Amino acid sequence: MFEIPVSSRARAISDSITLAITARAKAMRAEGKDVVSLGAGEPDFPTPDEVADAGVRAIRDGHTRYTAAAGIPELRAAAARWFDRQFGLDYAPEEIVVTAGAKPALTLCMMALLDDGDRVLLPGPYWASYPDIVRLGGGEPIDLASEPEQGFIHTGAQIAAAAREHGCKGVVVNYPNNPSGAVPTRAQVEDIVAACVEHDLWILSDEIYARLLYDGAEHVSPASIPGGRERTVVVNGGTKSHSMTGWRVGFLAAPREVAAAVGRLVSQAMGNTCSISQQAALAMANLEEDPEFDRRMKAFDERRHHVVREFGSIPGIRVAEPKGAFYALLDVREVCERMGCDDVGFVEQLLVDGLVATVPGSAFAIPGFVRISYAASMLDLDLAIGRIREFVASKMA
Ligand code: PMP
Ligand code: GLU
Repeated sequence: MFEIPVSSRARAISDSITLAITARAKAMRAEGKDVVSLGAGEPDFPTPDEVADAGVRAIRDGHTRYTAAAGIPELRAAAARWFDRQFGLDYAPEEIVVTAGAKPALTLCMMALLDDGDRVLLPGPYWASYPDIVRLGGGEPIDLASEPEQGFIHTGAQIAAAAREHGCKGVVVNYPNNPSGAVPTRAQVEDIVAACVEHDLWILSDEIYARLLYDGAEHVSPASIPGGRERTVVVNGGTKSHSMTGWRVGFLAAPREVAAAVGRLVSQAMGNTCSISQQAALAMANLEEDPEFDRRMKAFDERRHHVVREFGSIPGIRVAEPKGAFYALLDVREVCERMGCDDVGFVEQLLVDGLVATVPGSAFAIPGFVRISYAASMLDLDLAIGRIREFVASKMA
């Protein structure tokens, strides 16, 4: 029988592990198992009313046709104002492309920047999808090992040395970081940008968590540093800050030629981002007074304190305090040693026996650690903490 051959490119790509784990937790629940998921990072809050209502109105008002491929002009202009207001970034509307979420923005950016075999440096820990996103662009991902002792933030010298050693063209940075929650200081970002300037590297800066900051931490985009703007592509949007995970809408901001190249890719490969979601994103970008956002951040912050305190009190687990996003990395090396397994084995046993879904650190290039998302209700967090406490105690006994 004839079988359609799948390309080597598609064979080299795996399913998103975070989405796969979440799907598995859902399937287990459907079988009647009471699994708590701290897997995928998805806020448990609904999309804010102003944003959701704009989507409903969009359908009623007939915003249901093709739009300009790179996004409706009003949204590109509103996104430019939003980048300026929120992060002090200066972009013209033509330097902004609206995409169906941050994920396609990252993928299209790679397709626009990479020639076959170009190497891209991925400082760990990094979001699990980056290596495959680089491969989709025809490039080769190069890992730079995580530095837990440096608060998970590399120096410019470390990035430059690795880029030089492997002949990388560019580097992907993601702060606030998924999975560590690390947020660099301005001086650290300046140091990274200076190294990229000196070594002619471009920067893909995934800033999807840029508004999710705690303890007065400041988000500093590499594009806001002198010398950074011309070599940086910024990816951002309301996915996480405004609970818009299912709407599929995000922004890419880049120097004109790069934005134009990404726009061409959108026009041929994706088509415009959903016209309804663009209207919702317009409402998000135009929100100036946003007390609901402050309330969501207060809730995330309470959960953050809670998970750091609770996990920190479990013998065998260590946890660093995240400064942004809604993830915490649990250092489970000691427990794994007792169990005679790695973090993948830990996560598997915890899911099957302890009924808590988490993501192994190996997926983020930080083996020996486990990522939990605290974008979950306090009720779920407490249930999960209790189960993990019991699970770990039984292995450490
Ligand atoms: N970048 C990072 C670091 C993420 O954690 C995620 C997960 N949502 C994305 C990009 C993708 O975001 P979106 O849902 O907007 O595609
Ligand atoms: N970014 C989220 C996570 O890391 C959602 C999953 C995904 O888009 O792959 O869990």
